[in-house]
Amino acid sequence: MADYLISGGTGYVPEDGLTAQQLFANADGLTYNDFLILPGFIDFTADEVDLTSALTRKITLKTPLISSPMDTVTEADMAIAMAKFEQGFITDPVVLSPSHTVGDVLEAKIRHGFSGIPITETGTMGSKLVGIVTSRDIDFLAEKDHTTLLSEVMTPRNELVVAPAGVTLKEANEILQRSKKGKLPIVNDRDELVAIIARTDLKKNRDYPLASKDSHKQLLCGAAVGTREDDKYRLDLLTQAGADVIVLDSSQGNSVYQIAMVHYVRQKYPRLQVIGGNVVTAAQAKNLIDAGVDGLRVGMGCGSICITQEVMACGRPQGTAVYKVAEYARRFGVPVIADGGIQTVGHVVKALALGASTVMMGSLLAATTEAPGEYFFSDGVRLKKYRGMGSLDAMEKCSGSQKRYFSEGDKVKIAQGVSGSIQDKGSIQKFVPYLIAGIQHGCQDIGARSLSVLRSMMYSGELKFEKRTMSAQIEGGVHGLHSYEKRLY
Ligand code: GDP
Ligand code: GDP
Ligand code: 5GP
Repeated sequence: MADYLISGGTGYVPEDGLTAQQLFANADGLTYNDFLILPGFIDFTADEVDLTSALTRKITLKTPLISSPMDTVTEADMAIAMAKFEQGFITDPVVLSPSHTVGDVLEAKIRHGFSGIPITETGTMGSKLVGIVTSRDIDFLAEKDHTTLLSEVMTPRNELVVAPAGVTLKEANEILQRSKKGKLPIVNDRDELVAIIARTDLKKNRDYPLASKDSHKQLLCGAAVGTREDDKYRLDLLTQAGADVIVLDSSQGNSVYQIAMVHYVRQKYPRLQVIGGNVVTAAQAKNLIDAGVDGLRVGMGCGSICITQEVMACGRPQGTAVYKVAEYARRFGVPVIADGGIQTVGHVVKALALGASTVMMGSLLAATTEAPGEYFFSDGVRLKKYRGMGSLDAMEKCSGSQKRYFSEGDKVKIAQGVSGSIQDKGSIQKFVPYLIAGIQHGCQDIGARSLSVLRSMMYSGELKFEKRTMSAQIEGGVHGLHSYEKRLY
């Protein structure tokens, strides 16, 4: 009777499909395409599915999506768009003094993109608030007025609505709503400026409920460093700039260099979250967990631009790598990032169903509007460049990638990636919502209301998988049509 389940009143339903443990029981390495998930029971709508998931021990994201630290994928525009830009309290705003001029405000507008500027006695934070200048105060001034002192155009302190230090973001937002102004200065009991809030951000708060923020409502941002001596300087600059999490970027993370770097970061910045990697086995993961990492990045040679498996003979099919590392790391509360090889939204769902907490994407986000680089045309197709950080091309242009894939002393460089191009995908403002809705629909079909339910269903054995033969894979794709158009969203 052991392999029969009782279902309703109609009798026994035979046990069907494989548990994750059974799926990975023999030594075949599986990719995302080698298996499917069997559907479950739906009693909720797709948009109810909660995608909250852990990036590291201490950082939780509202959506499980991360962009790769690669020079053709992530620079500021991508990071900002991925995080859904918005601010809470701005604690280091641009400030001027009454003896600055209208020209200084215009210059700030050009340099920073905003012109709502609080005026303090000395023109610095922590000094007494004496007024505010906004675009409305200077919009109609002629060229010759650029030398006008701000003391003459600013709205003076006695007319300003301010909030006291210690006010909550919610209270401050209510004051801002009532005052109908664009900015709310926050002052301490000596009337010294400590922060400002912008109305624009209130609106973004409403428009981007999924933004992942820290306790000060600042957006979260991570950055990658290597494990060399000069990376310690980069680490200092990144922490000064407010990075919330550091990724130790290495194609094979199980090394004395990375372990030493984890110890160094732990000791120097105890509160900074550190992600180690990349790893694909539990044995590799063990060393980094012992060293004290807060998260692990999993993947070796599965990326779309990778030739590591071909050249170095090392690596692992990504389905197996994710399952094996996640299954080990969860005992220590260390979340796993499935990095590379994500070609479709279905792959994201599979990675999460195998125990990953988040996925990292390169090719899927490359060639979007927000990815670095200019579009170019080839044979009438609009393209952007996408290259592996271990490609000779990247190596020649950025020193960081050299360190990820080579030793400085290496006389012969061995490429671990290629350089290519990808067709224009438009803005991630459309693409990411598609990914989010796709993951929610996948979870709904499985019968998982949240990603944590999905993982616990997998570990309890309730979630069932099935291997796909070659012909099953062909059947699962579009087939038998003379021609077709594949529009995804
Ligand atoms: P403004 O009316 O020209 O000041 O611009 P908005 O208020 O419409 O937009 C300013 C945006 O820049 C908001 O999203 C702010 O959070 C952001 N920002 C970042 N740093 C600063 C700063 O130092 N001062 C101001 N005014 N805005 C900042
Ligand atoms: P804008 O729409 O981006 O130009 O900025 P605001 O709506 O913040 O400001 C519009 C006008 O009101 C400007 O002349 C500001 O100097 C002034 N102003 C800004 N904050 C206050 C305030 O708290 N009280 C008063 N009385 N005026 C303010
Ligand atoms: P994709 O999403 O394009 O399939 O894979 C992106 C991932 O590939 C990156 O996050 C990174 O881990 C990995 N990667 C980036 N460049 C290279 C490279 O040149 N060689 C190898 N082996 N992996 C790379």
